[in-house]
Amino acid sequence: MIVMKIKRFLSVLLALTLIVSSFLPTAAKSSGCDCGFSPVVYVAALGSATLYLDAGTADEKIIFRPEQADTLGLVGKLILPIARLAVDKNYTAFGTGIAKATTDLFGPLAMDENGNSNPRVTTKPTLPSDPTHGPNHDYYFGYDFRLDPFVVAQDLDAYIQHVKSLTGHSKVSFRASSLGGIIVMAYLEKYGTTELDKIIFQCCPILGVGVAGDLFTKQVELNNDALVRYGMQVLPRDAVGSVLSILIQSLDALGVFSAVLGFGDKLIDNMLDQLYDELLIPIFGRMPGLWALVPDVSYEQAKTIFLDSSASQTLVNRLDDYHYNVQGKADRLLNDALNSGVGIMILAGYNMQREPFVASYLNQSDAVDDTIYNAPGVTCALLNETLGDGYVQAVNDGHNHLSADGIIDASTCYLPENTWFAKDMLHSTPHEGHREMYALFLTSGGNFNVHSDARFPQFLQDDATNKRLIPLVDYVPDDALRIEDVFQFMLTFFQEFKLILLAK
Ligand SMILES: [Zn+2]
Ligand SMILES: [Zn+2]
Repeated sequence: MIVMKIKRFLSVLLALTLIVSSFLPTAAKSSGCDCGFSPVVYVAALGSATLYLDAGTADEKIIFRPEQADTLGLVGKLILPIARLAVDKNYTAFGTGIAKATTDLFGPLAMDENGNSNPRVTTKPTLPSDPTHGPNHDYYFGYDFRLDPFVVAQDLDAYIQHVKSLTGHSKVSFRASSLGGIIVMAYLEKYGTTELDKIIFQCCPILGVGVAGDLFTKQVELNNDALVRYGMQVLPRDAVGSVLSILIQSLDALGVFSAVLGFGDKLIDNMLDQLYDELLIPIFGRMPGLWALVPDVSYEQAKTIFLDSSASQTLVNRLDDYHYNVQGKADRLLNDALNSGVGIMILAGYNMQREPFVASYLNQSDAVDDTIYNAPGVTCALLNETLGDGYVQAVNDGHNHLSADGIIDASTCYLPENTWFAKDMLHSTPHEGHREMYALFLTSGGNFNVHSDARFPQFLQDDATNKRLIPLVDYVPDDALRIEDVFQFMLTFFQEFKLILLAK
């Protein structure tokens, strides 16, 4: 009898233990975190996830970004065609050589007729396991840049559910960088804002990128002055940079670059159509992720060039879906998000020279993305120009939205109170100054905007040398040659000089 009772007691205990333990993980999840800071999901840029061919097999190979040995292999394969071109001036043979070598490297990246990946090409997605979150602890979301942004948005939603459960929060914030902003916009269209606290758009092509539009419409053009400016702006801002800058300007004065560009022009005249037909269209022409970068001004024309009759209606429909329902409705999507209580910070760079080989080389940019597309709705002058002396702010809303340098009128922005501009900011290269502003925004309670903190008004100067963002009106450029720069230059000079003497 006693044995029976003990047995029954034990079996009831076991059953209770099982029932309780089955609830335990749920109980732990729903206990929640009361830190008051929504975990931040960093929706990263193009190239954020490595792409593999035959992942997990003995033949696994990284195909993006290509490994150094493969890139060197490509260079090796180009040497012979270049040498041959120098002798026989046969551009068609040269074009075929380039197309073939590049296809060997990037061919597996090509999508099928519907814009889907070859099933053998994948990422290796992982989910985070560390529940630590805060202004300095982002959750990194990487993805295959080629995919339809709506497909990636679905993965992002699954990632958000995981982060919520891991951290015990009911909402997350986004920090999107570059192409990541396109994923966030697709997410807004598909899933709305109920699980979102705040969004940072850092240098995001919300309305596209001029380079993509130009390349998709064959607007290729080489410009000498743009090439020189482009080269100068990436130099280090120190004594070595100053010497290199003098070197670049000297070479320019000697006509070296115009000679190189003359050769480039000849290549374009002779080979452009061939490179599009044999390389660009077959490999890159059906990637919905790249199509999302094409601005509206180029979109329909790009379709006539890149999508021939072999492209399926499914592909055209999915490209149109992003273009017309996300990019084309960005104004409504952003305003709806703001009005539903989501904090928004859009940051765009300007005053940099963009890539010197496309027709839009004079657009204001952060060297990669156009200011007009990163700060949707903005009115801004072309590079090295201003809006003019008599310019009057387009929309008078009771605030000043004109930059002190006369380049930008933010009053026409889709979100004029939530769009910031950083002069001389290089594309998606944040430093301590940006991180300080982001932390302030992410930890703020209410609707943080360009009027909220005097340290971070609408117009900022990116002082990358000193790793700070400062109000544009307070910035005094440090053009004076500092004595330590002179010493550094002399030191470098003598060290090099000594090496040359020792070598003799
Ligand atoms: Zn928390
Ligand atoms: Zn205003």
